[in-house]
Amino acid sequence: MNPNPAPKPVRRVVIAGGGTAGWIVAAGLSKCLGRQIDIRLVESEEIGTVGVGEATIPTLHFLHEVLDLDEKEFVQATQATFKLGISFENWRNVGEDYYHSFGKTGAGHWTASFQHFWLEGRRRGLASDYGDYCLELRAGLDNRFALLPDNGLNFAYHFDATLYGQYLRTFSENLGVRRIEGKIVKVDTDAASGDVTGIVLEDGSVVEGDLFIDCTGMRSLLLGQTLGVAYESWAHWLPCDSALAVQTTSVGEPVPYTRAIAHPWGWQWRIPLQHRTGNGVVFSSKHISDDDAKKALLANVQGEVLRPPRVIKFTPGQRELVWKKNVVAIGLSSGFLEPIESTSIHLIQKGLLRLIELFPTDGIRQSDIDEYNAQAREQIEVIRDFIIMHYHVNNRTDSDFWIRCREMDVPPLLKHRIQHFRETARVMLRQGELFAENSWVQCLMGQGITPASHHPITRNMDDRALADFLGGIRKDVARKMMALPKHQQFINQFAPAPRIDPRMDKAPTLSLRINPQARIDAVELAGGGKVFVVDDFTQEPESLVALAQSMAGQFQLRPGHPYPGPQLDLPAVMSGELNAWFRERLGTQLGAGEPTGMYARFSRVTQDPASLDARQRICHRDDSGLGPSDSMAACVHYLFKDEALGGTVFFRSLMSEADTRQFMHDSSTLDASAFGDKYGIQPGYMTDSNRYFEVIGRVPAKWNRAIFYDGGVYHSGDIRGPAPAYRADPGRLTLNAFFKSSKQT
Ligand code: FAD
Repeated sequence: MNPNPAPKPVRRVVIAGGGTAGWIVAAGLSKCLGRQIDIRLVESEEIGTVGVGEATIPTLHFLHEVLDLDEKEFVQATQATFKLGISFENWRNVGEDYYHSFGKTGAGHWTASFQHFWLEGRRRGLASDYGDYCLELRAGLDNRFALLPDNGLNFAYHFDATLYGQYLRTFSENLGVRRIEGKIVKVDTDAASGDVTGIVLEDGSVVEGDLFIDCTGMRSLLLGQTLGVAYESWAHWLPCDSALAVQTTSVGEPVPYTRAIAHPWGWQWRIPLQHRTGNGVVFSSKHISDDDAKKALLANVQGEVLRPPRVIKFTPGQRELVWKKNVVAIGLSSGFLEPIESTSIHLIQKGLLRLIELFPTDGIRQSDIDEYNAQAREQIEVIRDFIIMHYHVNNRTDSDFWIRCREMDVPPLLKHRIQHFRETARVMLRQGELFAENSWVQCLMGQGITPASHHPITRNMDDRALADFLGGIRKDVARKMMALPKHQQFINQFAPAPRIDPRMDKAPTLSLRINPQARIDAVELAGGGKVFVVDDFTQEPESLVALAQSMAGQFQLRPGHPYPGPQLDLPAVMSGELNAWFRERLGTQLGAGEPTGMYARFSRVTQDPASLDARQRICHRDDSGLGPSDSMAACVHYLFKDEALGGTVFFRSLMSEADTRQFMHDSSTLDASAFGDKYGIQPGYMTDSNRYFEVIGRVPAKWNRAIFYDGGVYHSGDIRGPAPAYRADPGRLTLNAFFKSSKQT
């Protein structure tokens, strides 16, 4: 018998769980390997996600590069703000703060990094604060930000975790990932091999696969509960085991850093987003009860509380293995340290990228599993030590919590590192460590260690040389900092997100979720030409209405615009989806060649028929102003249930070309009554034939129906319902889009 039978190829990947971990994994696998494997993701809306995890670190850029995400689109879709570091308040001691920035501080020499020169400068009275030599730190504290070339400002993001999941879901579904809604009630395994063969859902269906990614959060349904991989607790080093999270309305402009405010029993976070602020406390249940922690949290937030705080219990630690048999755990199912320093999403990303590197397309081999597990362990242990250091190194004497943290025994490498720094100002990193030397230096000094000595090379500089060196860096930082715009100003100009109302129960989805099964029917227009009608166009039309309603205050009547009601630009990410769908599915039929532009908006017809101007009393085309080699196609998606509010009517001119031109010219130059007198056209919307135009087709409105047509055909809204129905919210809400292209050759 062959002791090593050929492993079974991996073709079907099943991701269990659709939190941040599940959707990051779905996005990464579909982007890198989607052509080779079939990917399904099972999640349960009823169970939901942990709903926190909104601060990141700069390594996220690499994931976004792999996925090739558009930064503006991502910032808008997730209500993101920029993050330059973390402000640690009261950690060293009550009333004392420091800042851990993502930047480099100063400049060093191969023998000794900047802190050695700074310490020498301080000894000689030539140096100012350590932070004065770091652009990210100064910019953060002065609330400034910009994207600088060559990574001139190293940054990460704060984002809305739910919106991030939705954004990656759309991304993944567009790459073919199939999402299955359902609650996992059982996990099937093969009696002989012990491999997982399928996950059983509440409705009895079984989702089978070759490789399973456990992203079920702390439940760890597959790796922990089914394969029995034990959880290694690090609670003896990481004192917090509980959290309470609450969202509030924003107060003031968002700062470009996370605030981490220590309390006698743990700490509190404050994460500013574009549309709201995320808050929470992380605490030791041995030192404060849930109720008291809740009171402390609510007493320390600003703004209106949007929903009651939620308690989250956790055990800091890691599963003994994160890959066993054909199950890989990524995200909270694999372990969790705690929120300080925002490392969890980074670990998800590392887990995904390592899986892609070791992907077992030709079959799962134990050597790959061992490699994966070894790397996972190395990576998390050095991060764990960095986090332990924040608790262990402190001067607080006001509470048992902090005194115990200071007195606890810590892992040997960390113990050595702290001692080495205390004595010599040196931090010697091991290969592949996440936190760079400057992070350790900022936090070790910030938490209260002043090294007893530093490198002798610094004494080679006389006072003049050292003062010039330090002064030059400081001035350069100050000059660059002053040239940066304020954070809010930068967001406003770079990627202002739709101002959705954070009080809504469920964040509206920034995705069209176009129905992949929607059928396209063609309706012939009299005399040639077609309108394409797509019923059940999107999977969640209510969510689009909710989105429009959450932004109701931003709809605007555009002065001089012929549309008879207020409009609002569609978020870029959704326009992109619609554009991609149109180009793939209908572009050819509607004569679109190379895409040259696209614009989409929500619109509501509200104008009283009696007050319409001349242009609004007649039909129109969407292709005016285009060159002879351009074409324009258009779309109207009806987002109202009252069909009496009207669909779209199509016309052809009964006049000669020259007369039609004159007629159109008059409609835009004469006032309504002069035009009415000249042509005998009464106030009101044009819904029927008259002596100038004849109706060639009519598409009735229907909830969630989209129509696509050639913008060169005359048309008009079929507006003849009672006026109050149009003024009601949301009234005749439509999504209108215009696709500009070169003409097909
Ligand atoms: P979850 O969000 O819990 O998702 C689990 C998924 O599995 C859900 O879709 C759920 O529906 C599904 N599921 C579970 N059981 C079933 C079932 N039976 N059937 C079907 N589906 C099921 N990380 C950071 O990087 N930065 C931070 O600032 C940060 N802050 C945090 C603060 C707190 C208090 C906590 C607890 C964590 C924080 N994290 C942070 C970690 C971060 O929240 C997680 O790493 C991230 O959200 C990933 O979670 P997940 O997807 O693994 O789990």
